[in-house]
Amino acid sequence: MSEQCECSKKVHDKILDAVKSKFPDQLEYGVTLLGYGLFENKGDLSYKPKMDVEYYYDHHAKNGDMKRKKTKTFVVFTFCPFCGKEIV
Ligand SMILES: [Zn+2]
Repeated sequence: MSEQCECSKKVHDKILDAVKSKFPDQLEYGVTLLGYGLFENKGDLSYKPKMDVEYYYDHHAKNGDMKRKKTKTFVVFTFCPFCGKEIV
């Protein structure tokens, strides 16, 4: 698995340290960065920053009523949002 820079790990570790400091002496801690995803390209896995997107449109259903269609998708960043390094 490849990663373009170390920012996701740095951010993860900073948040984990902050949580541990704010809630000391707990049993276990965990942090998940939701703005990242694992992507496959020609057999190579990479961990990239992404932004979740939701869009909708209203259309006529078969019975003539207006109906809202919602869809969730995402866009992948082409540059690291933390250090600005290009993501290949
Ligand atoms: Zn970075």
